[in-house]
Amino acid sequence: MTKIFKKTYKFAAYTSGYITLFLAAFFTLFLVFINDFNIWILLLFTVLIYVFSFFVIQYRVEKFIYKRVKKIYDDVSILDASSLSEQPITTNMETLTKQVERFAQHKKLEIEALKIRENYRKEFIGNISHELKTPLFTVQGYILTLLDGGALKDKKVREKYLERANKGVERLIYIVKDLDMITKLEVGDLNLNKEDFDIIELINNVFELFEMKASKKIISLTFDKDYKFPVLVHADKERVQQVVSNLIVNSIKYGQQDGTTEVRVEMLANNKVLIRITDNGVGIEKKYIPRLFERFFRVDKSGSRQEGGSGLGLSIVKHIVEAHSERIYVESQYGIGSEFSFTLEQAK
Ligand code: ADP
Repeated sequence: MTKIFKKTYKFAAYTSGYITLFLAAFFTLFLVFINDFNIWILLLFTVLIYVFSFFVIQYRVEKFIYKRVKKIYDDVSILDASSLSEQPITTNMETLTKQVERFAQHKKLEIEALKIRENYRKEFIGNISHELKTPLFTVQGYILTLLDGGALKDKKVREKYLERANKGVERLIYIVKDLDMITKLEVGDLNLNKEDFDIIELINNVFELFEMKASKKIISLTFDKDYKFPVLVHADKERVQQVVSNLIVNSIKYGQQDGTTEVRVEMLANNKVLIRITDNGVGIEKKYIPRLFERFFRVDKSGSRQEGGSGLGLSIVKHIVEAHSERIYVESQYGIGSEFSFTLEQAK
């Protein structure tokens, strides 16, 4: 744009030159014709014509460019045409130049962000269909075998196949529920219902809920000590229960046989409470840790493929914790165990 601006001077200078030359020639002929040729009058005429046409052309060209660019401003609603004042044209041109540059830069960033989002969307849809396909094919497989006839007659086989098909359906429901939750969280549609409650009691409830699941792997769910007094926090109880549940379930799913899941509740100095959930399970390799909270991310080597899950659990956890403006941390050593911890606001 600055170049265009300079070019208008050049353009005005040349064009005025041509016009002056043309008119000076005529004026000379005229002076000769009236028999009154005077070099000083001719020079004065030439200078006056040159200066006059230079300024007129310069002004008109700038005005023209300004009008054109302003039209672009008006057409592209993002730019604010009112920021272009009708003050000296040169200042306006500079403002215009700067704003158009800023606009172009802004658009470039927007396009880049859209491209990233588009890739993300494609990946997301690919992941969903991949996650849904496995249980769907399982269900279909059992139903087709039953429809084939042979298995239908045998009551035991029939029941077994129906149970397995049902497991597949349960898994589908599980994935869809998680998807529903993550969509709500990402749209920001989650109204937090904050209240004061005892986090120790909530953790105890979660322990009870997953006692059976843990006992199948002989994993003990315990506190690091006996919490005799309630620890009151201010948060959305239902959502926090989801966070604790997801973390406890993971500690069981990726825990070793005969392992332990230990929960510690610590009071921090800044009116915060830190909840730490530690297991001595399979652990996570360092290189996977930065990606753990991504949607659908699952570490193959940790045996997660055999374990039910949508790969959305930790992503949901992170969203809920961040919706509370709190923080989540993870520490893990491959083959030794993991610790997931998050903060909550202490009730006043
Ligand atoms: P899901 O458990 O459904 O696969 P998550 O989002 O809850 O999805 O977890 C993502 C991945 O992180 C899991 O697949 C697993 O590989 C790893 N992970 C999560 N928690 C643990 C844990 N306590 N110990 C080891 N690996 C874990």
